[in-house]
Amino acid sequence: MAPHELCTVTAAADVPDDFKALATAWPLWDSKTHPQKPRGSGKFRFDYNGTYASERVLIMSGAATLKPTDGSPSFDIKAGDAVTFWNGFSCDWRVTKRMTKHYAYYSEDGKPEEEYETGIACDMCSADCFAESYLFEEMDICPTCFKKDEARFEGAEHQKEGEAVPAEQPQKKRKQKA
Ligand SMILES: [Zn+2]
Repeated sequence: MAPHELCTVTAAADVPDDFKALATAWPLWDSKTHPQKPRGSGKFRFDYNGTYASERVLIMSGAATLKPTDGSPSFDIKAGDAVTFWNGFSCDWRVTKRMTKHYAYYSEDGKPEEEYETGIACDMCSADCFAESYLFEEMDICPTCFKKDEARFEGAEHQKEGEAVPAEQPQKKRKQKA
């Protein structure tokens, strides 16, 4: 079903098993931690305008109503659905039930965008800090910003490649994934 020319929805019952297996390895988005306007309302506008051809998602829980900003009719997406948001789509989200979804960005050739799959940008200075970062109250902080203001980020989780570094382990430089 294509409720909009730039948004494709595959109903839960029709989502192929191999897509589910693929998608569950992607990062997980949680509506609870997404900025909402007003705060806690479940409402936010989203423009799919990055340097990707599409964002593909598998909804794990929850539900939302999407209202395209071009005036097209609203439609609902819910747990189990697979959704493809094509570049150029813009809509007002209204999360009606807290949603979690796996997501990945795809390029023109239909392949996953590596930099999006693995990218972490510092929420203070926007530097790429995938290799090493600190997670503090949903913010990713690069080592430079972290060291500038360590007291402020007390209790932050030290991460490498988006995974927690166990505190008791010596922080050896790990081999980069190919
Ligand atoms: Zn930074």
